[in-house]
Amino acid sequence: MNSADADSLAEQFSELGMVPGVELENADLAVLVTCAVRQHAEDRASSHLGELAAWKSARPGRGIALTGCMVGEHGSALLRRFRHLDYVFDMREPEGFFARLRDLYQGALEGPVPLPASDRLFAYLPVILGCNEMCTYCIVPFVRGRESSRPAAQVEAEARHLVERGVVEITLLGQNVNSYESPEDGSGLAELMTRVDRVPGLRRLRFLTSHPRNASDRLLDAIADLPTACEQLHLPVQSGSDSCLGRMKREYSVAEYLAVLERARARVEGISLSTDVIVGFCGESEAEFQDTLQMLAAVRFDTVHIQAYSPRPGTAAYRRSDDVPLAVKKERLQAVLELQRRISDERNQALVGQTVEVLVEGTGSDGRAFGRTRQNRVAWLEEPAGPGEVVTVRVTSASAWQLVAA
Ligand code: SF4
Repeated sequence: MNSADADSLAEQFSELGMVPGVELENADLAVLVTCAVRQHAEDRASSHLGELAAWKSARPGRGIALTGCMVGEHGSALLRRFRHLDYVFDMREPEGFFARLRDLYQGALEGPVPLPASDRLFAYLPVILGCNEMCTYCIVPFVRGRESSRPAAQVEAEARHLVERGVVEITLLGQNVNSYESPEDGSGLAELMTRVDRVPGLRRLRFLTSHPRNASDRLLDAIADLPTACEQLHLPVQSGSDSCLGRMKREYSVAEYLAVLERARARVEGISLSTDVIVGFCGESEAEFQDTLQMLAAVRFDTVHIQAYSPRPGTAAYRRSDDVPLAVKKERLQAVLELQRRISDERNQALVGQTVEVLVEGTGSDGRAFGRTRQNRVAWLEEPAGPGEVVTVRVTSASAWQLVAA
């Protein structure tokens, strides 16, 4: 989301007549787009901000702005905490910030400048902001606010604009993306995907991140039927134990979650499934953790993103006791990693000899081209290919995290 926010700001700066993305030493204004999902991310942003004090005082006229989740969390208190910070603004309402810049640089700005040429092939396109869920470990609803979907026509126009600038793969983005509902006519994510799919020149379409209870058959059919829609579904489960899901307030049972995956596999041929898991959440017993391991072993996801629970101030779970010892969290993390390494390896080995479509992203330090399959697997190519090329190749070998193909 921050990457998408930075892109959107770059567009707005260029419309104003400012050149975005120049080297810091040549810049007049530094803008920090912050994340507050984990305390660590916030600490890093604070540290960057501290470092910028010397940059600012090195030349008169320089300024520093801050936006993103930290503004949702702390607001203008940040201006008191960091004396060298000049502006804070809400990413959802940046108009006031840009109006101030317009006043400040009046006369010095001569209208829109073209954005610097981009060889970007991939773009995130936010379609819904905020989240109406209340998962007890998560700060997002407090810093990003209630859900607000963008008009489908606006999203489609932006997708066209991105493709005209060279983007070939778009990921529709939202904290709860499959809860998207167009304010124009109430249509959902499947209908939005249908509109974006028609944009001439677009090769691939994905979406991120979904809530299990919004995974409708209509959406699964869109993945199956639309030519650009990639056969991939990331569906965070977080735990394989109903009691733990209850404490997390995830609002689904393990059985309901598994039913969605079953429908996804039945409707979308060759779909790859990935998920997020938190280990060591407040009160997670050994039996609950074993339920999670069992569920992972039964589903055999292609990829699992694992985190050890860390308390986040401002969330409901922060008031609970963080009672799983760190050593136990680490053991559980390791157990999931080992299980998933074996499963991912087996799943990738099963692809050896099959053909896959790879969208080439670039060249590694060893000179080999690499890219991703439609199922989002990393693939290294034995034949040369340039960024943006789509090649159909045969998998010659595989490991847990990547394929080699020729
Ligand atoms: S659905 Fe995702 S973003 Fe929303 S509260 Fe839950 S974890 Fe946070």
